Amino acid sequence: MRVPFVAGNWKLNKTPTEAVELALELRRLVSSVRGVEIAIAPTAVCIVPVAKKLEESNVKVAAQNVFWESGGAYTGELSAAMLKDAGAEYVIIGHSERRTYFGETDETVAKRVRAALDADLKVIVCIGETLPQRDSGKFLDVVGSQLIGGLAKVAADEAAELVIAYEPVWAIGTGRTASPEQAQEVHAYIRGKLVERFDAQTAAAIRIQYGGSVKGSNAAELMSQPDIDGALVGGASLEANSFADIIRASRPQ
Ligand code: PEP
Repeated sequence: MRVPFVAGNWKLNKTPTEAVELALELRRLVSSVRGVEIAIAPTAVCIVPVAKKLEESNVKVAAQNVFWESGGAYTGELSAAMLKDAGAEYVIIGHSERRTYFGETDETVAKRVRAALDADLKVIVCIGETLPQRDSGKFLDVVGSQLIGGLAKVAADEAAELVIAYEPVWAIGTGRTASPEQAQEVHAYIRGKLVERFDAQTAAAIRIQYGGSVKGSNAAELMSQPDIDGALVGGASLEANSFADIIRASRPQ
């Protein structure tokens, strides 16, 4: 049984003061929720104060990116060991905004994934097609090659704890959600590729989140699909009540 995993990506939002307030409010709202793994990804500068406020709670902390080198002359970067020591348990890698605005490629995703695993950070690897790619009918190929490329440096015996986030780019921040059937089609395809890449038992353990305009009102229907194991949430995670609604809606039925 895969435990649903709901993660909130705060992107470039919230000062440290605001982030601590939001984290504390969320902690209060979801303290009694069972059966769902929960994480929030504040900006890097907020990881230390937020992680301190979430100690001994059921809300974990994720980073939004990680560099692949462990140290040295790389101005502005953060290593996996630094993020881990700061309090992050997970790191989001390869988000479409990083691919679009910061030149992220499947090769750099693979290097970041390797560095994170080496530092004992768990990874959420984001993949997803653009609208032209969906309309061209080649979206499964696109998603499949991002998946295989991004996981190029992962061994089968460390793969069960991977989290994959399928986020169709046309549904991120647009208010347009993939229908549960559209999402399930791609999630099942991803699961099949994971069977080929690793093995059936490992693929069955890997959680595949859906991301793209998830809200309290559409979460339960998405989660009811057999291969949707949680959500990566942007906009709706910036408000404690709306994120808590999604978390509650993701509890196993
Ligand atoms: C995201 O950026 O990961 C995301 C899913 O955003 P939103 O929920 O705002 O569409």
